Amino acid sequence: MGTGTLHIDLDALAANWRALDARTGCETAAVVKADGYGLGAARAATALARAGARRFFVATAEEGATLRAALGQGPEINVFSGHMATDTALIRDANLTPMLNDAAQLARHRAALPQAAYGVQLDSGMNRLGMEPADWAALRGQAEAGPLTLVMSHLAYADEPDHPQNAEQLRQFTEMTAGVSVPRSLAATGGILLGPDYHFDLTRPGIGLYGGLPFDAAQPVVRLSLPVIQTRDVMPGEHVGYGCTFTAARPTKIATLSAGYADGLIRAMSGKARLFAGNTPCPLAGRVSMDLLTVDVTDLPETPEALDILCPSQTVDHLAEATGTIGYEILTSLGPRYARRYAGETA
Ligand SMILES: *Cc1c(COP(=O)(O)O)cnc(C)c1O
Repeated sequence: MGTGTLHIDLDALAANWRALDARTGCETAAVVKADGYGLGAARAATALARAGARRFFVATAEEGATLRAALGQGPEINVFSGHMATDTALIRDANLTPMLNDAAQLARHRAALPQAAYGVQLDSGMNRLGMEPADWAALRGQAEAGPLTLVMSHLAYADEPDHPQNAEQLRQFTEMTAGVSVPRSLAATGGILLGPDYHFDLTRPGIGLYGGLPFDAAQPVVRLSLPVIQTRDVMPGEHVGYGCTFTAARPTKIATLSAGYADGLIRAMSGKARLFAGNTPCPLAGRVSMDLLTVDVTDLPETPEALDILCPSQTVDHLAEATGTIGYEILTSLGPRYARRYAGETA
């Protein structure tokens, strides 16, 4: 195997969905945008549908069409970017439900596909997507006159439970949706953890399903194993890698692994990330290059065929923390060169 192997535990994914579902008294959907946070939307969504998810969310109509082909008819597929000018055929043919974001999208959708269901996304303070309170006040009658299935909004600060923005967005969303007769949705993973006031009729977890914070009780879903191409002995004073940023202080054994920044192991990991042989950490030695990592394996009794960069000893969030980013970015950067191996009852 010349490339790394990304092991994906579909049972852990399903267990995380059930665990989040058990924290609310309402319906739990699943967000599988960005190819299921990098893990493969078709496999992830199929496993989640078996676990009981009936509504899925993606970012774009193109993602929705791909997902429909994998899931078949039945589950509802909602699209956050709504109905864009080029989306009509995809929405019709793949039976997608756009979350309409403004007056132009509402008009476009009602004119092009008058019978086709839609949701409405409201802006409750994040200022990213959705109708502002004044737009909504003007459009609500028209929106409610058609096959409206959902009214939703998104929290900007749900990973910080004490931030006052949460209560403010809750107040705004509650006010904007008073008297609405269709299901309402405000919470993603963070919002579920904020408690029942935030749950409404439907939640939309993403990151927590895939084992990431802020769902700290999540089971890990991924293990990323990178094969050793070559090992060498380096004498004290010799350098390793581009820019000579690592200099051996002792006789050092260096293993060269097949993966690099082209595979989502960002260059900022240089000098920060560790590789694991079981529970034993081995530091990166020198810079991450495009296709290769160099690792100090001197302290291992023997060099294994592969080392792990994501594993129980170094989770997605540990790696994110060490390199100044978030687990979402680590996951969604995992590149197409890895062989994705699925395990679990639902595989
Ligand atoms: C990505 C996204 C989600 C899922 O968020 P997580 O933090 O991954 O749970 C839910 N709703 C919207 C609008 C999103 O963009």
